[in-house]
Parts: sequence; structure tokens; C-alpha cells
Amino acid sequence: MKQANTGTAQTVPLLDIRGLRTEFRSDHGTVRVLNDVSLSVSSGEVLGLVGESGSGKSVTALSLLGLVPRPGRVTQGQVLLNGRDLMTMDERALSDLRGREVGLVLQDAMTAMNPVLTIGQQICETLRRHLGLGRAQARRRAIDLLDRVGIPDPGRRVDDYPHQFSGGMRQRAMIAMALSCEPKLLIADEPTTALDVTIQAQVLDLLRSLKEEMGMSLIMITHDLGIIAGLADRVAVMYAGNIVEAGPVRQVFKAPVHPYTQGLLASIP
Ligand code: ADP
Ligand code: MG
Repeated sequence: MKQANTGTAQTVPLLDIRGLRTEFRSDHGTVRVLNDVSLSVSSGEVLGLVGESGSGKSVTALSLLGLVPRPGRVTQGQVLLNGRDLMTMDERALSDLRGREVGLVLQDAMTAMNPVLTIGQQICETLRRHLGLGRAQARRRAIDLLDRVGIPDPGRRVDDYPHQFSGGMRQRAMIAMALSCEPKLLIADEPTTALDVTIQAQVLDLLRSLKEEMGMSLIMITHDLGIIAGLADRVAVMYAGNIVEAGPVRQVFKAPVHPYTQGLLASIP
């Protein structure tokens, strides 16, 4: 039976973030960047996370994965993935979980990739470490993954270095890397912001088809409401470190409750 994404209380969320607070400390004092962030994502659901620049979207993604750079620190809250609290996991378990169960796609693949390893070596390293695949098997799987995300001639391009790929191809390759262990959840932080409009559309089509084929959950972080309208089931709106509004996309777009969301929607031509 096909399960409906109702997002109601009966569905146990895949990811449940409760009261997350993140602070950056310096000699000048403490800056609270996330105040009280609560979010949930059901299995197979696409959650759009929107908000102006500096509102805390990226820090939310980093906080829930235990990746906030020092001197930042999550000081409060729970992050439950399938009921397990990530906040209480040790670094090793968390690192394993990041590789295997959650994929992360960032705006700029160049910063996320190792420039001295080929695309194939990077994917294979993940496959060998997390899934224990042998060399030949990992390589075959890497080529399959590149094929799946639409890299032409993947059997040859697998041996290219990141700088030999165009920007759009690098984003695809980063998506392939994030998908390599078939994660239940993909977090994409402005994955198309740095791309030309036509390439942007292609990458969004890819994410949409992956959602449909794999039933994967996705948190799509973007400041582009058009992307949310075309891809997300629900949307959460961030403002100054808080989620000020969340609900089904159609409902929030039609009748926004918070003044910030109203302003955001009014600014669309
Ligand atoms: P968004 O992704 O919504 O544009 P961010 O989550 O990147 O915003 O940033 C939220 C706030 O946290 C901003 O005010 C930013 O200056 C601050 N911030 C982010 N990273 C750091 C850091 N490493 N050190 C200090 N402040 C940071
Ligand atoms: Mg950001």
C-alpha cells in the first residue's frame, strides 16, 4: 500500500529536531545563532527550508549533523533520527551515521571535494569504508552512481578530478557521493545557487526524480521560493534563528501567517 505523506501526528517522523539552540562564543560575548529550532521530516517527504541570508539555515544543517565549526556549539535540543538522539552519540558513531544514513550536498562542490583525488576515488572511499565493498565492486558502483545522476560517459569520467568537471557536473557528482550509501535523508544546502539557470533546472529535475525513484527524504535549503513551489511538500520559514512558520507548501504560500513570510511572498513578481 502506498503511504501518504500526510505529515500528521500519526506518522513517526524520520527526523525530529526539537528545540535546537546553537551559539558562537568569542571574546566579545555569545551570539545565539539558532534560538529554538524545531522541525520534522517524514519518510519520503521533501521539506523546504527558506529564509533570508544569515537567518540560520546552514547552521541548522550543520548543527543537526554535529558539524558546527568551533567556536560554535549546540547548547540545547534533541535531534532524533529514527528515534535515536544524535546529540548524545559519540563522534565516531556520528561520523558513521553521516556517511551512511544522511547525505549532505553543499552549494559549492569544490569546497566539499578533495581536489587531489578523482571523483571515482572519492566515491569508492565512501563505499569501501561504510559498506565494505571491494575495489572492483566499489568502482562499478561509482560508475553506476555517476550514470544515475546524469554524468555522460561515466566509465571514463569516473577517473576525472573535480576541476575537470563543469560546475553543474560537479554538483551532480556531489549528489552521487551523497547518495552512495543510499541514505534515508539528503540535506541539500543551496545546491543550485551557484549554477546557471538551465543547469539549475536540470539539477532540480534530478533531485525530483531521485525523490520519486528512491522515496528518499530531502531537506532542501534555498532562498528561492520557486524551487520550494516545484519540489517541496512542506516548507519551514526561518527568521533570525527561529522557525517562524511551517506547513504544507500550498497552505503557507496561499495564506502566510507570519509577517516575514507575508513580506517574502509579496516580494515575488
Ligand atoms: P544562512 O544559511 O541562513 O544564510 P547561516 O546559517 O550561514 O545563515 O548563518 C546564521 C548566522 O550565524 C549568521 O549571522 C552568521 O554570521 C552566523 N555564523 C555562521 N557561521 C559562523 C561561524 N563559523 N562563526 C560565527 N558566526 C557564524
Ligand atoms: Mg546558508
